Amino acid sequence: MNLIEVTLGIKISGTSIEYGLVNRMGEIVLEEAIKMRGNESAETLFERLHKQFSSSYKNFKDTYKLMGIGIAAPCANYHSGTVENSSNLNWVKVPVVEIAKKYWDVPIVITNDANASAIGELKYGNAKNFKNFIQITLGLGLGSGIVAEGNLLYGNEGFAGEIGHTIIERNGRHCGCGRKGCLETYVSTTGLVRTAIELLSKYNEDSLLREVPLNDLTDNLIFKAAEMGDSIANETFEVTGRIFGEALANTVAYFSPEAIILTEGLALAGDLIINPTIASMEKNLLSIFKGKVKILISGLPQGNAAILGASALIWHELHMHKVNIKLQTLEKTIV
Ligand SMILES: [Zn+2]
Repeated sequence: MNLIEVTLGIKISGTSIEYGLVNRMGEIVLEEAIKMRGNESAETLFERLHKQFSSSYKNFKDTYKLMGIGIAAPCANYHSGTVENSSNLNWVKVPVVEIAKKYWDVPIVITNDANASAIGELKYGNAKNFKNFIQITLGLGLGSGIVAEGNLLYGNEGFAGEIGHTIIERNGRHCGCGRKGCLETYVSTTGLVRTAIELLSKYNEDSLLREVPLNDLTDNLIFKAAEMGDSIANETFEVTGRIFGEALANTVAYFSPEAIILTEGLALAGDLIINPTIASMEKNLLSIFKGKVKILISGLPQGNAAILGASALIWHELHMHKVNIKLQTLEKTIV
């Protein structure tokens, strides 16, 4: 009987590891997670992960064949296979791919969450027919993955696509990267809250948001208030969309994408964020690009996007390097 080929998509976040076996159609046939322990090293983490995975995988071995592993992690470097200076994980420079290879004898690649998400969109989501697009994740920060001519753009250092850390306001808001005025301090769920707080102190008018202590203000509350017609909440989205649209107009000038695809966090606010963003982007676009760039919401299921992205990453890699992988296998056989 022919075995069904699957890849293992692993998503590492600061608190947990989610993983799943995914077939070529993007169907998850096994999905599990483990909790990370405080300050856990990558070595013990992968030992536990492999143990748990192996115990589940033994029931799948007669049906499925593991072809490769894709890992999505914060601050991951595709070229070196490392996670570097991740504040979420407290890992300074960890050779994650090397560690994983102690347990699995299949091709393994790693990249950051935003890049994995872009490849997921390319393989299973709304970008199936696009060769040039940018995936933007609007969570606590702003992550981006750039696909140019059908390939993910990694750049010289392996960190290309840090649109969230382009400076859009001189001496602007403090950013987690240590600089000021980065785009993600304005356009992200935390940026939205910061803008709402600024607008609440700037205006005297009534707002539903005033009924919540400032520390408890969330993007979700601002979204709900905006939907109920609250003018400060609505202006918060308008201001965020204006800034986002200006930044995207610049991004389009660099990469000329066919589409910009938004996912997670602020993207869930739909038209509230998309409409002011499109208006501002169109207003600021160089005329040759006007009316030619779509802004879309991700086509990946929100709960599983990370696992699908990580699995798509290795499917993409296997596809792009099919010949190389065949040669390596042949070499191993000869040795
Ligand atoms: Zn920054």
